[in-house]
Amino acid sequence: MINAELSLFDTMTRQLRPFTSIEPNQVGLYACGPTVYDYAHAGNLRTYLFVDILRRTLTLNGYQVNHVMNITDVGHLTSDADSGEDKMEKGSRKQNKSAWEIALYFEDAFLADLAQLNIHTPTTICRATQHIQEQIDFILQLEQKGFTYQTSDGVYFDTNKLADYGQLAKLDKTGLEAGIRVNMAEKKSPTDFALWKLSGEQARQMEWPSPWGVGFPGWHIECSAMAEKYLGEQFDIHVGGEDHIPIHHTNEIAQCQAKNGHVQANYWLHGYFLQLNKEKISKSGTSLRLDALIERGYEPLAYRYLTLTSHYRSHLSFTWQSLESAQTALKRLRNKVCALADSGQIIEEYKTRFIRHINQDLNMPKAIALLWELLDSDFSPADKKATAQFFDQIFGLKIDHLEEVDIPRDVLLLAQQRLEMKQKKKFEEADRLRDQITELGYQVADMGNTFEVHPI
Ligand code: AMP
Ligand code: ZN
Repeated sequence: MINAELSLFDTMTRQLRPFTSIEPNQVGLYACGPTVYDYAHAGNLRTYLFVDILRRTLTLNGYQVNHVMNITDVGHLTSDADSGEDKMEKGSRKQNKSAWEIALYFEDAFLADLAQLNIHTPTTICRATQHIQEQIDFILQLEQKGFTYQTSDGVYFDTNKLADYGQLAKLDKTGLEAGIRVNMAEKKSPTDFALWKLSGEQARQMEWPSPWGVGFPGWHIECSAMAEKYLGEQFDIHVGGEDHIPIHHTNEIAQCQAKNGHVQANYWLHGYFLQLNKEKISKSGTSLRLDALIERGYEPLAYRYLTLTSHYRSHLSFTWQSLESAQTALKRLRNKVCALADSGQIIEEYKTRFIRHINQDLNMPKAIALLWELLDSDFSPADKKATAQFFDQIFGLKIDHLEEVDIPRDVLLLAQQRLEMKQKKKFEEADRLRDQITELGYQVADMGNTFEVHPI
């Protein structure tokens, strides 16, 4: 069992808090999903890798995780602040396909990316377009409680009606009203946001009848409605990228507070951005899709390794050089682990230290450093392998997968035997093994308590 308490950094309280679930041994986890108008970029995928690490850590701590993720296939406008065009309709024009075709195509592409990155599929994946009625019902209840008003282009949430609007982002509403330049149109306050938008004169492919007229739901209402449908009015953890703090999650919270009288999730976690030259990465403008990484010769799990080398609450700067180093490191790890004998025991000391790191707000950089330390330690090869495999339940790097290793296993086993002979000071035997390795076309280099093998 787990001996170090799990603590997570909660954006709502800005504190590291011990984690306790509502139901014993069960966790309800809602993760905001992708907007499927284009391929995901490496930044988006960093956020889903973080969610995967969170989920695996919860699982290792004995929780059964009910992981719900939405697919935003309607309603996300080009500006998060409710102006501009629906990203789906724009994508449709750009790619000369219907908005519906695009949604399905990029959803499939996204799920394929998750699989290639060894990210566990969410328990439930739900599309906004398949939950229109739930969203309309939610808005109707907000309307009954007096939190909405109508304009000529839709139904809006009146943020002035909620005393603590903006608590997640610590928004200063008065300051915002004075300083922000937002296209107010008929909005009463700059922070008010659309719940339902009317199609009006616009020709739209995705639209539905509603009590307010034909139109489509706002972006935030989908998550409030679907999270409640699949996880209930109160659940454990809500996650997303850091950009969701000031607008999307702030508005999701406002809707739930207005309807149910309380914030829907007990913990709010946010993954920080991947950056490219300190700039924002956009889906359309860059070639940082997973496929582009693969085309340049990198395996998807090398990108997974790269993300593990930084903490999820730090920005990570993407460079091809760092991806190259991650790929080299992952190959070295696999070579080392695959050379070790099977049937060992997990080393308690390392298990305890590992759990301490991951349970301290998912400290993956420390956990990865511990893996290297373990492999260089003096414990028996088989015990090191069993312990590394235990770690990999969280890392998900397939570090013991022979098919990923480019050095044949018999060569690695000979190298391992040679190292053991050297440690027992049986140098003649060690030299004989080195000759055998050379005959097979490889050379072995000593690295302290371990070794590396390269083709000659
Ligand atoms: P989207 O498909 O734009 O709705 O975004 C999907 C997820 O990716 C959201 O949780 C965003 O917060 C997250 N995201 C967007 N850009 C980045 C980035 N550069 N780094 C990390 N996460 C990001
Ligand atoms: Zn959301």
